[in-house]
Amino acid sequence: MIEWDDGHKGRHTMPVLRKYCPCASCKTESESRERSVLLPVITPGQYELLSAEQVGSYAIQLQWGDGHRTGIYTFDYLRQICECADCMKMTGE
Ligand SMILES: [Zn+2]
Ligand SMILES: [Zn+2]
Repeated sequence: MIEWDDGHKGRHTMPVLRKYCPCASCKTESESRERSVLLPVITPGQYELLSAEQVGSYAIQLQWGDGHRTGIYTFDYLRQICECADCMKMTGE
């Protein structure tokens, strides 16, 4: 759970964080997936978060169980993909 400066309590689940990985290779992967009918391949450890390292004052870099660590999530971006009840309600309307 991420608690924001404004008191907002952000909620994020690992599969969603991984799915929205902003690095170039994941973006390409999800685009090609949409075009094909194949089920996504799940690598062991893919959804296991090993570490989160702060990058400057604007982002965090997440390292996953399958060795993937090129995704840099800015705080703005994390806020956009927040899964808490409040944010889900806003995007649903
Ligand atoms: Zn990635
Ligand atoms: Zn939220």
